[in-house]
Amino acid sequence: MSSNPKTVNPFEIVIEQIDAVCDRLGVDDIYRSRLKKCERELIVNFPVRMDDGTAKVFTGFRVQHNDTRGPAKGGIRYHPEVNLDETRALAAWMTLKAAVANIPYGGAKGAVICDPKLMSQSELERLTRRYASEISILIGPESDIPAPDVGTNPQIMAWIMDTYSMAKGHSVPSVVTGKPIEIGGSKGRFEATGRGCMISAKLAAKERGMNLDGATVVIQGFGNVGSVTAKLLAQESCNIIGISDSRGGVYNPKGLDPISLLNHKRETGSVIGFRNAETVTNAELLVLPCDILVPAAFELQIVKANAANVRAKMIVEGANGPTTPEADKILHGNGVFVIPDVLANVGGVIVSYFEWVQDIQSFFWSEEEVNDNLRRLMTDAFAEVLKISQSEKVDMRSAAHMLAVGRVVRAMAIRGIYP
Ligand code: NAD
Repeated sequence: MSSNPKTVNPFEIVIEQIDAVCDRLGVDDIYRSRLKKCERELIVNFPVRMDDGTAKVFTGFRVQHNDTRGPAKGGIRYHPEVNLDETRALAAWMTLKAAVANIPYGGAKGAVICDPKLMSQSELERLTRRYASEISILIGPESDIPAPDVGTNPQIMAWIMDTYSMAKGHSVPSVVTGKPIEIGGSKGRFEATGRGCMISAKLAAKERGMNLDGATVVIQGFGNVGSVTAKLLAQESCNIIGISDSRGGVYNPKGLDPISLLNHKRETGSVIGFRNAETVTNAELLVLPCDILVPAAFELQIVKANAANVRAKMIVEGANGPTTPEADKILHGNGVFVIPDVLANVGGVIVSYFEWVQDIQSFFWSEEEVNDNLRRLMTDAFAEVLKISQSEKVDMRSAAHMLAVGRVVRAMAIRGIYP
């Protein structure tokens, strides 16, 4: 599993979370059992020609957790340590996320075990095209729509769209989201997850009486989600004091400029060595004193061993599954307000949904329309989760899971069992 303690299996965490919410809601065993399994799991082993003329076999997955509420939807991860259980967990969280946002999707996820940092662009293109054709028996605009995740980007989505379209004999932009604008991507999609994190931080700050002006922010991970969140929170007058990537972190209590830091990372490959900043380890970064902590890298970063040391007042989960259930209890006990992944980072799938709608209608929206609709859906989702959290006296994660599982279970009950 990606950068995680090997002993923790994220799919076991999902099962624990589903059991807890099913107990709370009194969900029938058949729905509980269905939610604890993934509906479809495809493992593909396929050869790719490398630049030196040799060929290598890669392993990939595409998992659909549940498609009761609509086509399955979820990103594709390229990482050397990704595995089937991690993919299953991410697919299940996608089911919950789409239900929290109340968009008509089920949950899916894909992955290829590879290190994109060690591959040339042409090797990545050949790997992507072959993987896309291997999983083409599952994906499609009406069945399962991939998007970017860790290690993948708009160019990779473009190769998937092109490969799928070549097999169909005509262009099918709606088969993937997170594409470049030139081939049917949506304005605002690249920033959507980070924008959603910023919106949920603002909504939570208002609710908690926290002034964002000058609020100190620490961000773990400086990829798509982390860098956009940093930029947008800085625009809201937050003071970004710590940021990390896979090589470590930088810290300056007086503030770091995210744009200059992004330029530094582009030039040197890492945030390390940024001027006027102290170097910290990723472990130290997570426990820096701050108002808002944004884990935006990988799963299982805030665990039993470090949760009590977290000094943030609020956590905005940009990453999927960054907190274990044990850590959750400790954070809750210490009064840390956690905006869970299935709510905080839902902006990505919301704007992916907008992209799919625009592709199907061949009618494209302005960036303002995209961002306004994103804000509206996120505000509604936040309000619904908060209401459950207050009425049921549970934390925001339990409330979000109750909202999501309730919606999926009702849909399963209405559809019934075929045949
Ligand atoms: P990315 O590949 O663009 O960035 C990941 C970042 O994490 C990189 O900066 C990398 O250097 C850093 N990183 C890796 N290992 C680290 C470690 N041990 N400590 C600190 N930093 C580390 O990926 P992304 O798309 O930004 O995704 C980040 C997280 O957000 C993932 O959990 C992903 O599932 C989740 N997410 C992404 C989207 C999306 O739209 N991209 C949507 C929802 C959730």
